Amino acid sequence: MEFMKLLFIASFCVIVCEGMKTKEFFSPKLSNKSVESAWECFKNLTGAQRGFTSKAMPNLKHYFQKFGYLSIPDGENATEEFDEMTESAVNMYQQNFGLKVTGKLDQQTVTQLMTPRCGREDVINGTTVMWRKNGGNFSYGTKHYTYFTGTPRWSVNRRHLTYAFDPDNEVTEITQTEMQTVFASAFQRWAAVIPLTFTETDDFSSADITIGFFYGSHGDGNPFDGVGGVLGHSFAPEDGRLHLDGAESWTVNLESNSPMTAIDLESVATHEIGHILGLGHSSIQEAIMYPSIPAQTIKVDLQNDDVEGVQGLYGSNSN
Ligand SMILES: [Zn+2]
Ligand SMILES: [Zn+2]
Repeated sequence: MEFMKLLFIASFCVIVCEGMKTKEFFSPKLSNKSVESAWECFKNLTGAQRGFTSKAMPNLKHYFQKFGYLSIPDGENATEEFDEMTESAVNMYQQNFGLKVTGKLDQQTVTQLMTPRCGREDVINGTTVMWRKNGGNFSYGTKHYTYFTGTPRWSVNRRHLTYAFDPDNEVTEITQTEMQTVFASAFQRWAAVIPLTFTETDDFSSADITIGFFYGSHGDGNPFDGVGGVLGHSFAPEDGRLHLDGAESWTVNLESNSPMTAIDLESVATHEIGHILGLGHSSIQEAIMYPSIPAQTIKVDLQNDDVEGVQGLYGSNSN
């Protein structure tokens, strides 16, 4: 019996990880809040290093590709070997997440790989997010906030932005009032430090920023992946789309008896608004713009790194 259970779990993991390769795997019907995170199967790679071969390795390579650490040429399949490219990807990943840089899948790295996170990439166009603008030059290796390529931001004549909730893409466990309260609070955290204002509007079609919950593949080339894994993603200025994975166990009232998979809505909302404003990911673990957040965690306060980053785009309120 125990063996059958193990076998079931093992085969489920394979299916889930396979799903990462096929963009259309998850659909609303398949999302099930009782299942484990899509990335639990990386546990099997603990201890792996260069030269190691495993059937799970292509899944890891697709993961690294999704977040910008590795490029698998079109038409080529990811191999089962932990090769030099993978080792470089692991090194860069460890650096970006403030882990000890070993190039190996040690316990800490595997735990980080499995932690729920934002769907935006960490490395853009092959340039690690850790490139820091420093006196006009870019230097590698400093922990810092980042911007998207070309440093897009809302233009100077768009300082009073409106936001609206997508009436066709909501979740039942969060009431409209809760959504309004959570997002008003999240927007206010950013508005407190930059000369921008954010006002909710009922007019979805004209809103600058649009917020909705989506399942699986939803038309923007970045499918969601069910419980855990990717929690949300949003687009750089001046796009304004903020998407959350409807399959998560969203909560606005995290308590000690909340589900193991409970994700605090305001924490993720605050992070995604950072992208809406033009911030990329930060390698500072305490920063709102750090890419990942464990379940059952509240993290809503902007850190100096977040404030410096966003003020670099818009100036401060006192300007
Ligand atoms: Zn993000
Ligand atoms: Zn999306």
